[in-house]
Amino acid sequence: MTVGNPMNRKPKMRKYTKKDFDRQFPDDATCLEWLKSYLYPDGVFCEKCNRVTKHHRVASRPSYSCDYCGHHVHPTAGTIFHKSPTPLTLWFHAIYLMASTRCGISAKQIERETGVTYKTAWRMFKQIRSMLDESGEWRLGGKGKGVEVDEMYYGGRRKGGGGRRLRGDRGEQTKSLVVGMVERQGRVRALTAENASGATLLPIVKEHVMPSSTVFTDELPSYHGSFWSLVKRGIAGVYHSVGSSYLQTYLNEYSFRYNRRSDTQPMFISFLKQVEKRDAVVRHESIPVEPF
Ligand SMILES: [Zn+2]
Repeated sequence: MTVGNPMNRKPKMRKYTKKDFDRQFPDDATCLEWLKSYLYPDGVFCEKCNRVTKHHRVASRPSYSCDYCGHHVHPTAGTIFHKSPTPLTLWFHAIYLMASTRCGISAKQIERETGVTYKTAWRMFKQIRSMLDESGEWRLGGKGKGVEVDEMYYGGRRKGGGGRRLRGDRGEQTKSLVVGMVERQGRVRALTAENASGATLLPIVKEHVMPSSTVFTDELPSYHGSFWSLVKRGIAGVYHSVGSSYLQTYLNEYSFRYNRRSDTQPMFISFLKQVEKRDAVVRHESIPVEPF
């Protein structure tokens, strides 16, 4: 029997079960404590004392108070949890649910699993997703690195007349164009685009790919088929119809997950470490009706 060299074996992502979750985050206090340690790894800085001081938990509020001057610090400030009436444990649970499945879940599933209203589930869902957008943080490729650019049409009219029908619609107009940029055995970025013309695609590639990279277009054999199949399968499994703006946040979640496929850190922790990235616009959006 031949056994592969264990040194060549890639370390796998650590398992993080619901049991692990319940053990690590049994209540709001442990969630807040995690947040404090994560946001202030070198201790809590007191603005009034102008230095890192000892802080203690305020019993009645989700905050910590400076031992010397009594100034309050709210670890939820500037995070997706800011001013939310939903308990932290439910937020963490929703993040756990979204991070723990390969293809992602819907707001409806969060409603079912956590027992919050659909409205609350939808808001949490949107906020959690909003923090997974990596587009402004780094660019693909680099010196000597190849980046493949490819397009995919997604969607069409929803069956049963539920979707919005445009005049003269032959199905084609309701399809959304997705541009995928993929590094060889590396990271991805997927964006919705108006059309596949060079005038539209070039600025997108310029914005998201390092100028020193070699860009390939789809005439070459595709080496990122697995990413597209994951996206397609995921969309088909969770949604029947995805609007264009909604599709982008969906692609962000997929790409985020895909870009961490070789990490050892559990996906839930990777999601959790994004909580500072908050999109304030989300709260004012209308709530669409999901198919189930
Ligand atoms: Zn102080």
